[in-house]
Amino acid sequence: MGGARDNRTGGPWFRVRIGQRLVLSFVLLVMLVVGGSGYVLYHMTLTSLQRQLRAQLLGAAGLVAQSLHGDVLRRLRAGDEAYPLHQRLTARLTDARSVVGAARIAVFDPAGRALLDTEPGWPIGREYPQLAIRDRAEMQRVLAGQPTCSVLFYEQGVPYMTGYAPIYLGDEVVAAVGVDIGAGFVDTIRLFGRSVLAFAALGALVTVGLALWLARTITRPVQALVRAAQAIGRGNLQVAVVAPSRDELGYLGETMDEMRRQLVARDAQLRQMLAGVAHEIRNPLGGIEIYAGLIASDLPESDPRRTHIHKVIEEVRKLNGVITEFLDFARPRPPSPRLVATAHLVDQARFLLAPEMEKARIELQCDVPPDLEVFVDPQQLQRALFNLMKNGVQAMRQGGALAVTARADGEQVVIAITDTGVGMGPEVMARLFEPFFTTREKGSGLGMAIVSRILEENRGSIEMHSEEGQGTTCRVRLPRRPAADLPAEAA
Ligand code: ADP
Ligand code: MG
Repeated sequence: MGGARDNRTGGPWFRVRIGQRLVLSFVLLVMLVVGGSGYVLYHMTLTSLQRQLRAQLLGAAGLVAQSLHGDVLRRLRAGDEAYPLHQRLTARLTDARSVVGAARIAVFDPAGRALLDTEPGWPIGREYPQLAIRDRAEMQRVLAGQPTCSVLFYEQGVPYMTGYAPIYLGDEVVAAVGVDIGAGFVDTIRLFGRSVLAFAALGALVTVGLALWLARTITRPVQALVRAAQAIGRGNLQVAVVAPSRDELGYLGETMDEMRRQLVARDAQLRQMLAGVAHEIRNPLGGIEIYAGLIASDLPESDPRRTHIHKVIEEVRKLNGVITEFLDFARPRPPSPRLVATAHLVDQARFLLAPEMEKARIELQCDVPPDLEVFVDPQQLQRALFNLMKNGVQAMRQGGALAVTARADGEQVVIAITDTGVGMGPEVMARLFEPFFTTREKGSGLGMAIVSRILEENRGSIEMHSEEGQGTTCRVRLPRRPAADLPAEAA
């Protein structure tokens, strides 16, 4: 049916929500697991390797310090570089350097000036700038007699650490040794850290895709079930609920279809009962009408009882109308469509309504092109248009105007029926097509249910627009050609 009835169609909002929640939780989980464990591992490894290197540095510096004598060092003066003593000591230092795997070993006095250095060409007495700035705290500590280690530093892009050990003469610290050892593992660990980050990012990306896919596999079938439930809610019990998957949602779909079948069965029972009752009432009503007519014709023209009898006949006819509505609803017959003039259908309905319209002082404005044809069951459509126009008339108890227009729209004809009546609020609009829903004291509530079914069976549709106190417009769409005549995609 028309758009006005579909205003609760489940939009994609919940897919977004489930998707978002899945993506968010998955990404958080991956970040937490990969990132968290990577971060912990990174720090544990770094600290442990640094501790190991520190021990190695302290050991190496201590060993070198022990192999040197304070009094010999004290005698070294600037310019002694060429003397055999200095050369011998330097050679020993160079040996030690390769034994402990150091990059450089230097010996300096308490003022931070060079005494011995494995770096060729470093003269006695030259100051080490890093001792005064970067390693000042270490320098103070080592001069106080405490072996110590520097922080990590980079030289020409290579990471190093320095171990310091004091050299004593008696109780006095007369010099100190600094051993630089490369900390290549730091680069490796940094690389490891970067890889962890990259993997976390990649994992998050893959997870987003995975979560979106998962969300779709959940929300797609849910949407299918929502649509099925909405169709059932509108009273369309013909379309089977297809189990959208083989999991719990599929089970839900099967259960819903079982419910639908039971509703169909109950519906059929109800209709049968209704038809039976209507039939039982209709026969005696026929009798009443005939005999009342006979009595009326027996009475003289001037007899006031004649008007009473005519009241009886009128009420009986009204009752008959209601019974006909019941039977129409309870015992629908399949449509036999053919090409028919739209104007003819409208005229028939108009003819049946003429007395009522005159009584309520309703002006009818008809604008239907005489050559406009539709392909429908004429009797059924006449009935549907009659029901719609009658509702319009009943909505204008104080008089008004009923406009009926028709025009071609592609493969369809659009018939609009507009009244200037009381209109409907959203609660009435929502239940308009429900069988037995009525706000009228003497209404059956079947008029619109019948309209809806007739249009469905005749490949038509209806849209309702109404404003309380303003009036109502029903827009009916009907096919102009048999379904077989239409191009495949439009059929
Ligand atoms: P009935 O006419 O027997 O009440 P219907 O199915 O034809 O049953 O209509 C159901 C209800 O919808 C009516 O009782 C009325 O409240 C409302 N309705 C239908 N058409 C109109 C209309 N044109 N204007 C105002 N209300 C309407
Ligand atoms: Mg009605």
